Amino acid sequence: MQSSDDLRSLFQDAAAKLAAVKEEGGGLIVMTGAGMSVMSGVSVFRSKDGKMTPEFLRFLEGYNEAQRGHRLPEAKDWFDFSVGSMFKCQTAKEAWDYWKWRVARANVMPARDYALLKQLMDYFGKDRCFAVTSNCDSLHLKSGGVSEDNVLEIHGSLAFLQCSEPCCEELFPITPYLPYLAKDDFVPSCPRCKRECLRPNVLVFDDFNFEDTRERVQRENYRRFLKKFETPDSKRRLAVLEIGAGVVVRSIRANADHLGSEGRCLIRVNPSKEDCEFEHRSLREKGVGLATTSEKALEGILQSLGQ
Ligand SMILES: [Zn+2]
Repeated sequence: MQSSDDLRSLFQDAAAKLAAVKEEGGGLIVMTGAGMSVMSGVSVFRSKDGKMTPEFLRFLEGYNEAQRGHRLPEAKDWFDFSVGSMFKCQTAKEAWDYWKWRVARANVMPARDYALLKQLMDYFGKDRCFAVTSNCDSLHLKSGGVSEDNVLEIHGSLAFLQCSEPCCEELFPITPYLPYLAKDDFVPSCPRCKRECLRPNVLVFDDFNFEDTRERVQRENYRRFLKKFETPDSKRRLAVLEIGAGVVVRSIRANADHLGSEGRCLIRVNPSKEDCEFEHRSLREKGVGLATTSEKALEGILQSLGQ
């Protein structure tokens, strides 16, 4: 963590950069990873070095037992466990043991950091903010910070189910299934083909069955949003605020780096000082790294903005 004096001046720097973008009629892109949902209680099941928690290993073992029973190869780690084929009928029950746990853990209310983020978005104006997230917990939507038209969930959402061998493009809201998913042996089956099981509309590894209807709409909304803030010199009147993005799966960080280099500034929030650093030279000028929690960073920025 940085010292409190360092942080205070960094909050002011970040706030000044954000205010300048707002002043020129620009927009705010918020990019969030797992770290943003920690305060809300969505547990992280992988540590920074990629190691799995004991709870996760229990699901992996259950799955491997079923795999062995069907003379199928065992999964070594998360990368060959959390795959599209895990929902095949031989292992659907074990796959769902894991996903029920994920669903239950994501079914929380957004904590104070999301409320602070909403405040910052309100400062910019709702139509000038967009959230891009690798989280599948719908907390940006639940907190009211953004509307359905202003969010891109790059790994999908646990709020929806789809057929596991897509017989249709339809997505099924998870809410009516929640009471059943609390039961140990329940595996939801597709109401359309009545043959395959349903699975979360979440992108996993080697996923050839992810139903991307919703994602396509979100990507189109995102493209349109970016276009609104393009400048004649192919830059963008945008501030990028990245919060809690991981370093194991780097999708959010890579997106933030890219957009930050086209935009006016990149503010990176991560409790680890080394994870706050900017690899690209072009970003060192425009970048502000805040080595603190999402709550403290947002509070500090809002205070410096006089909000
Ligand atoms: Zn089906």
